[in-house]
Amino acid sequence: MFKILKQVGDYAKGTIEAAKYIGEGLSVTFDHMRRRPVTVQYPYEKLIPSERYRGRIHFEFDKCISCEVCVRVCPINLPVVDWEFNKEVKKKELKHYSIDFGVCIFCGNCVEYCPTNCLSMTEEYELATYDRHELNYDNVALGRLPYKVTQDPMVTPLRELGYLPKGVLDPHDLPAGSQRSGKRPEEIIEDTKS
Ligand code: SF4
Ligand code: SF4
Repeated sequence: MFKILKQVGDYAKGTIEAAKYIGEGLSVTFDHMRRRPVTVQYPYEKLIPSERYRGRIHFEFDKCISCEVCVRVCPINLPVVDWEFNKEVKKKELKHYSIDFGVCIFCGNCVEYCPTNCLSMTEEYELATYDRHELNYDNVALGRLPYKVTQDPMVTPLRELGYLPKGVLDPHDLPAGSQRSGKRPEEIIEDTKS
């Protein structure tokens, strides 16, 4: 008799402990169900890169004076500037320009030091290819206008955390006109001028 009562007691104790653990597990689940989603449904949704994002470099052929400053300031002497000296006009004539994005570290030195501003960093970051040689962009590929997330009709652009209004963590269903917290770079420049 004593033994049966002890077994029933142990069984009840085990049941209560199991219920406690299930409750603890479910409390974590329910807690997450109340939280806002922070996932981005790529490639249907994409984050808008920040203003200073250093993506694929854009090159303007007509502005280049073949000075090769970009090569000298590049930590790996990467840009290839192929020019010929035109004796008639006594000027360098650019024939070909290329940057291999399979090697580039996107440091932005070339863009920073180019005297004619013919290089600029874009917000394009989807550069993946099956063949690494395709990452060697010639002046035609470099001259292609940058791809913008906000102009792609197939994609829902989402603002990244840096763009969200103060206290908002979810970029979904954000009203179109809602301002981000903090000032934009042009507003900061205006402030310093005044
Ligand atoms: S620094 Fe600018 S202008 Fe000079 S070669 Fe490079 S891209 Fe051309
Ligand atoms: S971004 Fe940096 S690594 Fe890439 S080409 Fe320019 S200077 Fe070289």
